[in-house]
Amino acid sequence: MKTPNRNRLPNEEIKAILRAADVIIARGGRTLLAKILKGSREKKVLELGLDTCPVYGYYKSEKLDIITEKIDWMIDFDFLDIEYSGKLPMIVFTERGWQIESDQLTDELLSEWQEWVNQGKLDQDMSYLKDRNRQMILLLLEKVKESGNPAFIPYLMLWEKIEYKKVKEAIRTTIKALENREPVDEQLIQVRAESINEALNGLAPSDFPLKCWVCGKRFTFTVGEQKFFKQKGFQLPKTCKKCREKEAEGRFSRFL
Ligand SMILES: [Zn+2]
Repeated sequence: MKTPNRNRLPNEEIKAILRAADVIIARGGRTLLAKILKGSREKKVLELGLDTCPVYGYYKSEKLDIITEKIDWMIDFDFLDIEYSGKLPMIVFTERGWQIESDQLTDELLSEWQEWVNQGKLDQDMSYLKDRNRQMILLLLEKVKESGNPAFIPYLMLWEKIEYKKVKEAIRTTIKALENREPVDEQLIQVRAESINEALNGLAPSDFPLKCWVCGKRFTFTVGEQKFFKQKGFQLPKTCKKCREKEAEGRFSRFL
């Protein structure tokens, strides 16, 4: 088995990998993710429009297996995870990974609005925000409010028209806050920034104990075993090694 690269990835790279993962989440695996970051011209990548991702080609001078190693580090350190869709292993966000990604994605969306303001574009189609992750949308509105920028009100009004009740209400609250120039909660911004920094530390993989369902003893589920089980899409083991071996022996002796 290859020894994984234990060097911590810089925050910028962690964010880039998460940004690329966002465009294939739960519908693509490690290889496809690596290809986006590599900037691959492969048919599948282009057909899915993955070349429009802002971090497409982020690692264009790296080899594909080096990029894959970085992705595996992201999985080991609890930024991304693998979930099986039938037999296909798909990339999904961990809670930590999604926290970081939704923060940078809302920043990206907001800077796009700022770009529209700068260009004097008023009549925008806001339907791209409909049916997005609710938590992310509420965070975006929070940031719009914190911007204190009344130039965003026209976009909010257009967006409100097409939204469902819950989000409609949140948009209205945001419009009011901007109109009334409500003071910004600096402490909330601070807490959020600290929380993101903490999330960026990741979580180093470690051995952990499991209980054997047969003999009742505790046994160690090692990092190496965890990795193997994850790659194979297996559930956590229910029995210790001794009991597993005994069971296998029993099965064998019946044939003697
Ligand atoms: Zn046992």
